[in-house]
Amino acid sequence: MQKLVYAGILAALATVGSGCQQSGPVHMGHDILPVPESTISVHQLAQRLGLTIYADTGTLVSLRNAVNSVTLFPNPSGQAYVNGKPVGPRGGIVRISGVLFVPTSLESYIRSALKPLSISVKPPLAYGRRIVIDPGHGGKDPGAISPIGINEKSVNLAVAGELAQILKQDGFDVILTRQADVFIELDERAGIANRAKADLFVSIHADSCNNRSARGSTVYICRNASRKSFAAAKAVDAAMERAGMACRGVREANYRVLVSTDGPAILVELGYLSNIAEAKALADHNVQGRLATAIAEGIRTALSQ
Ligand code: ZN
Repeated sequence: MQKLVYAGILAALATVGSGCQQSGPVHMGHDILPVPESTISVHQLAQRLGLTIYADTGTLVSLRNAVNSVTLFPNPSGQAYVNGKPVGPRGGIVRISGVLFVPTSLESYIRSALKPLSISVKPPLAYGRRIVIDPGHGGKDPGAISPIGINEKSVNLAVAGELAQILKQDGFDVILTRQADVFIELDERAGIANRAKADLFVSIHADSCNNRSARGSTVYICRNASRKSFAAAKAVDAAMERAGMACRGVREANYRVLVSTDGPAILVELGYLSNIAEAKALADHNVQGRLATAIAEGIRTALSQ
């Protein structure tokens, strides 16, 4: 019950304090009272320190957050306590017309004694992680060509570009082996990943097959791939499956770009350009975005393991 009464009083005080950003006269009803120089109200103090006023008993004011308790005693030799330990010089904490004022200098004493809110803050997943994205083919090498005239190199570049954008937004350091319709040798693509010491190399391709009904994505790793490559392939395949795509699973093949890459490396075949329905989908900007989003999710999962 007492707490409720205090809450009512505090709410009233907060209304008074909130309009008072700097030291100056405090308006209480019709009275104008002088405020000591170099002081701030307890409301301002709480706001600056990220604390809430928990109780005001008249003899003390208690401020809190999830892990700290600050107590202020307003009397001539009053003292501030942070988590039970005295901080700052004695005195200077005064009550004027019910509002507690503290010396401005007390803020920094209290701040330096507060425990951090989250003691173990993990660095973000993307921190310092580098991903090399390789849009397959390009320039004189169109890659697979669909029966409706869609070139693999264009689909690869579009999806890789989307993927790069998403991963950059996550904070990853992203390198594209090509950003335009240019030809790059396979060894150079792997070389870019090796020189960059990439945490993951992701080559983006689209399939083609004589059987025009063949469909779905496949994630490749080279034979005898590292545990990290396998985990990344599994995570990307699973993410694409969760996104509702037809997935053919993780397979092994000694593609040049996979064999020549020192670090973890996967090659994603997005789907079959030889399948007319799938070719149309692969050329669709929305589908390209969905593919990129799913691959990005798989990469995040892989790198968090
Ligand atoms: Zn290809």
